[in-house]
Amino acid sequence: MAAKVKKRLPKEAPKKGLSKKEMLDLARAVVGEASVEVVEFLYKKKDISEFEISKKLKIEVNYARSTLYKLFNFNLVSYIRRKDKVKGWYISYWTLNPKGFVELKAKLFTDKLGQLKERLSKEETNPNGFFMCQAACVRLDFDQATDNGFRCPECGGLLQPQDNSKTIANLRVRIKELEASPGKV
Ligand SMILES: [Zn+2]
Repeated sequence: MAAKVKKRLPKEAPKKGLSKKEMLDLARAVVGEASVEVVEFLYKKKDISEFEISKKLKIEVNYARSTLYKLFNFNLVSYIRRKDKVKGWYISYWTLNPKGFVELKAKLFTDKLGQLKERLSKEETNPNGFFMCQAACVRLDFDQATDNGFRCPECGGLLQPQDNSKTIANLRVRIKELEASPGKV
């Protein structure tokens, strides 16, 4: 019996790919609005030259290239360079890296969660340790309040100790929500 040829899967298939919209949102968040049309154009294409990108999107080739390298810095695209036989110069051909999008999203999630947890821990270890101006100009910790003689550095009003239990409860809810839906980063 002849051996069945196994269908080859792409080496770097993402565990769970992102939707096109999620990819566009991520590109917008880390590289900026200019990268959105580039990602949209490259979506589900392979090895597209920067000249083609520039031509189709009606943008300068240098501008396309700088946007592509920004995406590359976040591992959202890959490229190969080939020498153009006729013109003799090198041209880069670009492809989206869906796995990079998945990894970036996971990283943003971890960072955000870490920040919230750090804030929560700071609040929890300082119950009633924050001081607030009654006109709500500032919120200072004990050391900062002492340095200012318990006066608001903005308006001179007296600083009052603040019950931070609401802040703590709020942070706990936000952490829970984020953990429940990591997709909402
Ligand atoms: Zn004030």
